[in-house]
Amino acid sequence: MAAVRPPSAVPPTILPSVCPLDCPDACSLEVHVEGDRVVAVGGSHINPVTAGYICSKVRRLPEHVHGERRVRYPAMREGRKGEGRFRRVSWDEALDTIAARMTELVRRGDAERILPFYYGGSNGYLSQNTSDLRLFARLGASRLARTVCAAPSGSAAAGLYGTMPGMALQDYRHSRLIVLWGVNPSVSGIHLVPSVLDAQSRGAHLVVVDPRRTRLAERADLHIAPHPGTDLVLALAILRWLFENGRADEAFLAAHATGAEELRRRAAPWTLEEAARTARVPAEDIENLARMYADSSPAALRCGWGLERNRNGGSAVAAVLALPAVAGKFGVRGGGYTLSNSKAWDLDARHAAGELPMTSAREVNMNLLGRTLLGDNGSPVDLLFVYNANPLATIPNQEKVREGLSREDLFTVVFDPVVTDTALYADVLLPATTFLERDEMSRGYGAMVLQESTPVIPPVGESRPNHEVFADLTRRVGLARAEDPDSAQEMTEAILRGSKSGEVIRQSLDRSGIAFPGGNPAAVQFVDAFPLTADRKVHLVPEELDREAPGGLYAFRPDPETVAYPLALISPATDRTISSTLGELHDEQVPLEMSPRDAEARGIGDGDEVRVFNEIGEVRCLARRNPALREGVVMLPKGLWRHNTLSGTGATALAPDTLTDLGRGACFNDARVEVRRIETSGKPGGPPNRR
Ligand code: SF4
Repeated sequence: MAAVRPPSAVPPTILPSVCPLDCPDACSLEVHVEGDRVVAVGGSHINPVTAGYICSKVRRLPEHVHGERRVRYPAMREGRKGEGRFRRVSWDEALDTIAARMTELVRRGDAERILPFYYGGSNGYLSQNTSDLRLFARLGASRLARTVCAAPSGSAAAGLYGTMPGMALQDYRHSRLIVLWGVNPSVSGIHLVPSVLDAQSRGAHLVVVDPRRTRLAERADLHIAPHPGTDLVLALAILRWLFENGRADEAFLAAHATGAEELRRRAAPWTLEEAARTARVPAEDIENLARMYADSSPAALRCGWGLERNRNGGSAVAAVLALPAVAGKFGVRGGGYTLSNSKAWDLDARHAAGELPMTSAREVNMNLLGRTLLGDNGSPVDLLFVYNANPLATIPNQEKVREGLSREDLFTVVFDPVVTDTALYADVLLPATTFLERDEMSRGYGAMVLQESTPVIPPVGESRPNHEVFADLTRRVGLARAEDPDSAQEMTEAILRGSKSGEVIRQSLDRSGIAFPGGNPAAVQFVDAFPLTADRKVHLVPEELDREAPGGLYAFRPDPETVAYPLALISPATDRTISSTLGELHDEQVPLEMSPRDAEARGIGDGDEVRVFNEIGEVRCLARRNPALREGVVMLPKGLWRHNTLSGTGATALAPDTLTDLGRGACFNDARVEVRRIETSGKPGGPPNRR
């Protein structure tokens, strides 16, 4: 916890900033600063979508920035890997050590044994794919396939619609029916909630498709709770119903789509009864949803990421995204769909990388990190450089990741603002600035707003921004060029110059502090925004996806449950953390949640210690009965840190490192487990963590 300071007589200065964390919204912020300390964070109205309202997670940023877990200076490992004992060193010593390791691997012809590992710790344009890409590409290091999230849904959306921008969140107010499918805006992407409530207050209907009875599901007219991994058959059954009952919009399909007949053929086996049996939901609920969707206009569909995290995830998202095309829900404000709007911008951070060599270096799928570190996935890794990520908490098959990170001959660099669980395995630990201590340019992938931000306090301790450190390392390994963009300003302008709308964006940012993609804050699909496919049509069965998916697009692969492991474990987002980010602020024991019937069947009561296990790992934690969960499904939140469970393991310890049908994404929700009560007594926070 941050040290408690007496209240200051001088009122805090309030400075603007923008939240770049991995959340759809990119809220504009008001940061309260006293001297060189952040003392409070609130929302500002500069971003009209987030409109002064932020989540409770980010209100705790002062503790994140100034807390005990903050990395304040470079350090090198002293103890065993995982022990977290370090000695302070200078930046020069740390960077020279890293540069020497890199240079030696390149000299030996082993550049591919260097693996950068980064994800959504910051979604700002300057914090990844700029000078970091320059360094690793010029070295010839392995490339990282960043597929832990959104890869299946991104592939599906690109295949069907060529990443057409989605409905603006504020346009859900105009909808008569809102379908929230695999998404929980009450905890993630919260700025959709006011629009949903507003629409409901004016008579709109709400449908929620989620295995849990979420807060919005409680307010819904219809809640369908499919067994994890079966969203595909639900969507196919609705498509079949639309085709069979004359409710497909044949005129729209003829004018704007290809593949409708083939989609009809592939949906044909999924009668309401067959889908109901597979998804373990009542057939009449599926029919009700189909009928409500056909009858309502405007009808909005918010597709989340919950339905992609299984073996059928890409096809499931494709089938859900096919619904507005088949039912003819486009062309009206309040109708259409939203998935990720990140591609609504033609901005690419790589323009700030400088000149890059053509590289044929191997690509490593981040979901296979454990196997890769253990040499089961091509040549092993000798140097792992982790930034904007905490893979020990977030990547499937946690025990393999841990085993890999424990290799004595692996040289690991972790560059992070706080000492994450992964950082405990670092050979060199580098202090990164948070977004409040550096320049940044950020855009939402839900709320379509772009903003710039400048530091509100000086860097804490000796921390440095990502773009500076990677540029420095590039110089130390002798690969820098005079023309490389180096400063934050040079990089920002290089990114804007690389965009067709860069000049308009720059003018808009200078004028009002915000910019919208294409200058339009709320494009209507098929009026202002069209598919970005080659023929500007929706491709309902795109060839490239059909080739990629095992058995073809929309082929359902059955449940991986076994007699030994009959329960489906889901690991959704919560209102505590953003994936694992800010997890250092929550050291409470987090329970496994189970339906009362599943708990009863195993003699498990609230607060009991339990062992959740399968063939690849186990988690020991407390149990909580939760009637909001359907039978057969248990839940642990995603992004848990070692201090959150009795065993120091999280849901990723039980998640297989198998890959989705499209996009080679993670199959977290394919974890099948059993749960047993542990006979020894335990109290929350009692037994020490083993790991
Ligand atoms: S995490 Fe999301 S909701 Fe919270 S402040 Fe950041 S952008 Fe806004």
